[in-house]
Amino acid sequence: TLPTPATQATAAASPKPIRKVVIAGGGTAGWMAAAALGRTLGKRLEICLVESDEIGTVGVGEATIPTLLTFHQLLGIQEQAFMSATQATFKLGIQFESWRQVQEDYIHSFGLTGKDHWTAGFQHFWRKGRERGLAGDYGDYCLELRAAQESKFAHRPSSGPQTPLNYAFHLDATRYARFLRSFSEGFGVKRREGKISAVHQDPHSGHISALQLTDGSRLEGDLFIDCTGFRGLLIGETLGVPCEDWSHWLFCDRALAVQTTSTGEPVPFTRSMAHGAGWQWRIPLQHRVGNGLVWSSRFMSDDEAQQTLQGRISGEVLTPLRPISFEPCQREKTWVGNCVALGLASGFLEPLESTSIHLIQRGIVRLLQMFPNEGISPSDVAEYNAQSRDEIEHIRDFIILHYKVTQRADTPFWQACRDMSIPPSLQHRIELFQETGRVFRKGNELFAENSWIQVMLGQGLWPRQHHPSADLMGDEELSHFLGQIREGVEAALEHLPSHQSYVKRFCPAM
Ligand code: FAD
Repeated sequence: TLPTPATQATAAASPKPIRKVVIAGGGTAGWMAAAALGRTLGKRLEICLVESDEIGTVGVGEATIPTLLTFHQLLGIQEQAFMSATQATFKLGIQFESWRQVQEDYIHSFGLTGKDHWTAGFQHFWRKGRERGLAGDYGDYCLELRAAQESKFAHRPSSGPQTPLNYAFHLDATRYARFLRSFSEGFGVKRREGKISAVHQDPHSGHISALQLTDGSRLEGDLFIDCTGFRGLLIGETLGVPCEDWSHWLFCDRALAVQTTSTGEPVPFTRSMAHGAGWQWRIPLQHRVGNGLVWSSRFMSDDEAQQTLQGRISGEVLTPLRPISFEPCQREKTWVGNCVALGLASGFLEPLESTSIHLIQRGIVRLLQMFPNEGISPSDVAEYNAQSRDEIEHIRDFIILHYKVTQRADTPFWQACRDMSIPPSLQHRIELFQETGRVFRKGNELFAENSWIQVMLGQGLWPRQHHPSADLMGDEELSHFLGQIREGVEAALEHLPSHQSYVKRFCPAM
């Protein structure tokens, strides 16, 4: 007789209770995992993190998105202490420069734009207004975007409806790991300095049983979290989980990072400046600026990239150029047996929309929601992998959008981006917007309607039509509707302090 689903699950489950968790790697991923596990289950678990100073961390990953605030709230991390410790600044969005066309810019902000009607998003009313010469730029109806343009910031405006701004941070990655380390140690997490030289597996189940360190010691555990970076020492090298190659959609596979002194006041947005075969980032912190070039090795040599970056940075150079090679790919599974991979070990697409730290956080929250008690259930593992997969495919599509929808054809790289075929899910979204101006957010997707609209309009897509609701407004009514929103934004903006002065007041040590 066939076993019932329940007996199948029991038979496949590992009955071993989870009491000892070993985190391999102490970059942003390792320490975020340690902080969250320590804070929530620290009283029940023995948690040990092993990292190697000699190997070090990737040393980049300094732009975040607003979900990090939720992570900090869950952990009870105080914002002022965090910002002072990591020399953080506020971030209201990303400015995309020369992405649509050389020397044309737009901002993808974290704010909401205008006011939606229940039948139709604001973009339909704005589009009609634009057609009739009654509307300004799409961004004029979004406070966060206007604040970014004017380099202003406060948690909430002192006038008007005083709705809080939606923001994230730019942070110093090395200091963030240090900050989370002391936080985690306060919740009982033990740190081991050392190099992992071998990973032992149980011969029957294939589960990981212990990490061997070069000093001969062994770290045994019930659950292992692989945060060893690109190498994926546990998930990839030991368990053999392949990384699905997405380089036919995402051409960039090299980066060069360098830190410089600040040459002006920090702006509250990341700059993403497109060049002939990729793009350059500029991330302003309180004490310095993070810079880097991202490019495709198929279209640009390493020497050319180095010259490009050196010709485009300002300020005094503080660090040697740090080269990084990566393959845009995603592990087919990120939870296998008793091993969960987080951070670069789980895959990496590219840094364009600053989604990697968010994905670490999502992986941690998901693991906590499905945390095994008296053994690992295969149903949890399957659910975890399915959810992770949906999440990453959505983010992948959003990143590809920036490359595919461009008017640039000035270099072979941009021509190849325009010509590539794209995933059907993205094709559908683009066609839907182009035909009807509509965008729908599905399930728990990270990027909401306004993100897609800002980037699609910014990259040069213009919807062929708008919703009939917008036609119910005459010119005068439409003009009044749009004018009121814009005036509200400008009134709130007028009372916002400069970003620099606000950070200085908020983090007095600056
Ligand atoms: P790492 O920082 O590489 O840490 C790996 C850890 O494993 C280290 O502690 C190392 O010592 C340890 N380790 C490895 N092997 C061994 C061993 N044998 N024994 C003991 N210890 C070992 N993300 C964002 O959210 N925003 C961004 O703006 C952003 N920009 C990026 C730009 C670039 C060019 C790149 C490549 C990535 C960027 N990311 C960004 C991603 C981000 O950097 C990572 O997600 C984040 O830093 C987490 O890295 P990690 O902890 O997985 O790996």
